[in-house]
Amino acid sequence: MIAHIFPDRCTGCDACVAACPTHVIDASTIGPPVIARIDQCQTCYMCELYCDADAIYVATDQHSAEVISPDAVLASGHVGRLRHDYGWDHPASAGEGHLQDFWRLGPLLREGAEIATKRYAARHADRSAD
Ligand code: SF4
Ligand code: SF4
Repeated sequence: MIAHIFPDRCTGCDACVAACPTHVIDASTIGPPVIARIDQCQTCYMCELYCDADAIYVATDQHSAEVISPDAVLASGHVGRLRHDYGWDHPASAGEGHLQDFWRLGPLLREGAEIATKRYAARHADRSAD
């Protein structure tokens, strides 16, 4: 599950808010986005992949929220590793191999997130009308 947003790294771009398919993260006008509905986190790593500031850490436990030490996580080198290892940062210089082509999924995954956002809004509108 998503475990932490590093405020010192966050640029406030809200890419993580848009990318999260289950609306776990809320935008904020006074600081970094807020982890608002962690119970809806499906540990898909989309927020981490779309955060080009490497400001998000998603822990590997899919069933329960982990209390982490931000300093220890930063020291571990795990923050942003997924993005870098899968070539999302430097597609032009990515080496050969199918893992390095993973960045090509970006537009498709973003489209999926947009579809999920529209469905969520439509469902919410239906409930409001009841
Ligand atoms: S994607 Fe990263 S930099 Fe952008 S708002 Fe989210 S945490 Fe901050
Ligand atoms: S890991 Fe996936 S479901 Fe969890 S907050 Fe990030 S984008 Fe949302």
